[in-house]
Formats: sequence, C-alpha cells, structure tokens
Amino acid sequence: MQKHRATALHYDFRLEAGGVLVSWAVPKGPSLNPADKRLAMAVEDHPLDYARFEGVIPEGEYGGGTVMVWDIGTYRLEGDESFDEALRKGRIVFTLNGKKLKGSWTLVRTGDRRWLLMKRRDRSATAVDIATAKPRSVLTRRLLAGIARDEGGDVAKAATGDPQ
Ligand code: MN
Repeated sequence: MQKHRATALHYDFRLEAGGVLVSWAVPKGPSLNPADKRLAMAVEDHPLDYARFEGVIPEGEYGGGTVMVWDIGTYRLEGDESFDEALRKGRIVFTLNGKKLKGSWTLVRTGDRRWLLMKRRDRSATAVDIATAKPRSVLTRRLLAGIARDEGGDVAKAATGDPQ
C-alpha cells in the first residue's frame, strides 16, 4: 500500500498476482473498522518492483507528486478460488500480513471499476484510525514532506497529505 499525494491524496493498494501488481486507488485509505466501506477504484496493473518505489514523480507526468511506501507485506487468499476467478467474480477475500494492515479483508466490486475495501471482523479489527495513527513510511519512517524534501519534490504540497 502506497500513500500518494498526486492531484488528490489517495492510497494505492496493490496485490501481487500473475506476475504484476493488481492495483486499486483508495481515496480515503484503509480502515480497520469493519463498519467502514472504502471506495477502491481499479487502476492499471503495475510492475512488481513498483511495490517498493518511494520518491517523487515529476509534476506534469501521470501521478505527479510524492509517493510513500505506507505498508508492505504478504497476503494469502481465503477460500478455494484462484485470484483470477475472484477478480472476475468481483469478490476477493484475503488475509494481510503487513506491518500495519493485518487480518481478514474483502474487496467487492460494485460497478465497472468501482470496488469497496472492507475490513472483516477479527482480532485485528479496531476503531483506531490507522492512517492518522501511523502516517510514516514503513521503509524509511519519513512523512510525505520528508520524502519530497529529500527527493526534490514539492514539500508544501506533500505536507498537505501528512497529519496536520
Ligand atoms: Mn496513485
């Protein structure tokens, strides 16, 4: 999961499958509260090595802005279906073993490219606002502003994506 201060702040959720990172843009980021349904817009697949990209995309390019590796880890599918079957049917149930995000989650398609990302009820569910409580990079501990400063990006713009 990358945190990306582009035209608008969002989180990019990516699952490795079939040799690529199948990707969704989540405007409000993940919630550990099973009562929350977070819009997740399906976006283009990314290459595997993009999972660890942290830095600045030049303004004027697609996605121009600052990118943070907000969480990283592994996942496993729940149930017997293949990833492709679950993707095609529009319901992917999986367990995350990240540094921040853990436990059982569901992605459900509600429209063409529209999905909902939801925490399922388990021991890792909580009402704590994880995006605010843990705003730093899991790779470098930097905030967005620090990444922009180090990498020659727009520090003021990046800072609007950090907790105020
Ligand atoms: Mn993005």
